[in-house]
Amino acid sequence: MAEGRQIPHHGEAIVLRTWPFHEADLLVSLFTREHGKVKGVARFAMRSRRRFGGALEPATYVQAHYTERPRQDLMRLDSFEILWSPLTASPHYEHVAGLQLVVEVLEEVLPDLAADDNIFRLALATLRAMEASALWLSVTYFCLWMSRLMGWLPELGHCAACGLDLRGGAVWWSSSADGVTCYDDRRTDSKPLSIESVVLSHRMSRIPITELLAEGLWPRERGADLRAFAVATLERHIERRLRSARMLL
Ligand SMILES: [Zn+2]
Repeated sequence: MAEGRQIPHHGEAIVLRTWPFHEADLLVSLFTREHGKVKGVARFAMRSRRRFGGALEPATYVQAHYTERPRQDLMRLDSFEILWSPLTASPHYEHVAGLQLVVEVLEEVLPDLAADDNIFRLALATLRAMEASALWLSVTYFCLWMSRLMGWLPELGHCAACGLDLRGGAVWWSSSADGVTCYDDRRTDSKPLSIESVVLSHRMSRIPITELLAEGLWPRERGADLRAFAVATLERHIERRLRSARMLL
């Protein structure tokens, strides 16, 4: 943080979470494109909706105007303009859970003040794809890519125990161990990841979500084991359960 002077910032951001804070203020966690995750105070936000309107709803994509202040960790949030709002989409409960999952993962995983443009673009693309009723594809794609971008996604081509080449077959994973294994080395709590889902994970690592979206409907069952694997990978590294994921498995 800078010493002695106020520095105004203007840039794109995704609202992650808000908490009531002193009287009518709100404490807001914000994923900014320029500075990564920051926390700031929206003064009187609970009383006056004028400066923020619906822009403080989690998962809203905004143009944020905020000020860095001397000797203060919290930014002062001046005003937001909505660039895209999830509230325009159908408020189906699974869709709401999908939006919550995106912001919950970002809030848990991102360090403060570390910009990450790849994750920012992934989050935006996911929120938009969810709006196009591609919920199950979006959740699976997002969790898989977040694991990958954080460096947590294990290599799927070889058994972590015996080194066996697993390409072309199913693999086994456990929420209590790193890497995937062959059938013989599976643990008591291991679950299978089907060959179709392994292939799907390779396709997802190469193809933009918009292209997968254009391939047609994506039912809940498709890649359900891959979704469970990706969620478990994230949970293993943040060392807690993702509340919003429970409805989406
Ligand atoms: Zn093995």
